[in-house]
Amino acid sequence: MRTAISTLDVRSVATIQDAVAVMRDEARVPIAGATDLFVALNFGTLASRRFLDIWRIEELRRIAVNGDVLMIGALATYTDLIRSPVIAARLPMLAEASRLLGGPQIQNRGTIGGNIANASPAGDSLPVLAAVDATVVLRSAAGERRVAFNGFYTGYRESVRRADELIVAVEVPAVSGRQWFRKVGTRAAQAISKVVIAGVRDDRSVRIALGSVAPTVVRARRTEEALGAGASIDEAVQLLRDEIVPIDDIRSTAGYRRLVSGNLVRRFLADTQ
Ligand SMILES: Cc1cc2nc3c(=O)[nH]c(=O)nc-3n(C[C@H](O)[C@H](O)[C@H](O)COP(=O)(O)OP(=O)(O)OC[C@H]3O[C@@H](n4cnc5c(N)ncnc54)[C@H](O)[C@@H]3O)c2cc1C
Repeated sequence: MRTAISTLDVRSVATIQDAVAVMRDEARVPIAGATDLFVALNFGTLASRRFLDIWRIEELRRIAVNGDVLMIGALATYTDLIRSPVIAARLPMLAEASRLLGGPQIQNRGTIGGNIANASPAGDSLPVLAAVDATVVLRSAAGERRVAFNGFYTGYRESVRRADELIVAVEVPAVSGRQWFRKVGTRAAQAISKVVIAGVRDDRSVRIALGSVAPTVVRARRTEEALGAGASIDEAVQLLRDEIVPIDDIRSTAGYRRLVSGNLVRRFLADTQ
């Protein structure tokens, strides 16, 4: 089933206040860059025909540092993230993830808020946000609330976000240590990840997050704890392979994902020694 924007009921707003008022009063699905949304519409998997275009809300594009916290507005596109000197200085692995995401067209339209809200376990920005213990900022007409990114997803393509809530930003505390990101897909561009991984390592701790190996993005907590307690790289790789729960699907097999995830963790630990 093909769709066209002209057949849809779309309202457009230019402020967060107007957006959350509309989301309170009318059951409308937000549209940001529409790169995921139009795919769902064209496949007929999105029931709604009533949308709220938030693309014009300039205040959602800000990338700034407040105190020690990096604040990334939900409408920041991948191109914004690639070009941002603040991201390059504070969270270079997010710029790297953005460079490897889609192609230039998707990078120009796709937003970090859309990647978070879409809740795919293969979303490439998600392991980065999980590894740095980010916080999702949600706004509704009733007010604002902050949710730990690592508690945001409740199951496959499910999150704690209510239908009347807009993701307005994601906050990242200062990250110390080395950041590391890898994506394994069929090609370097325009390929959804078979496995995607982000890691942070400093003198005291190792943080590892993976995508496409479970129903949601996951932190490898048992592997992290074992490494903190002095486990060897071989032990960590084995533990990681046991800890994740990949599946066979059109993009890969569980066996390949398990093998590659272990190899990536080995590489991460070797590179950041
Ligand atoms: C050809 C192609 C290649 C792609 N490649 C990749 C890839 O390599 N890696 C990857 O991770 N993804 C990829 N994607 C998926 C997509 O581009 C990203 O997930 C993108 O970040 C989605 O952002 P968007 O602004 O376009 O979201 P939209 O499509 O506008 O919205 C997606 C969902 O999020 C909701 N939403 C959007 N913004 C908000 C908000 N602020 N608050 C609440 N809900 C919101 C919408 O209602 C919708 O349900 C690809 C898509 C295509 C079409």
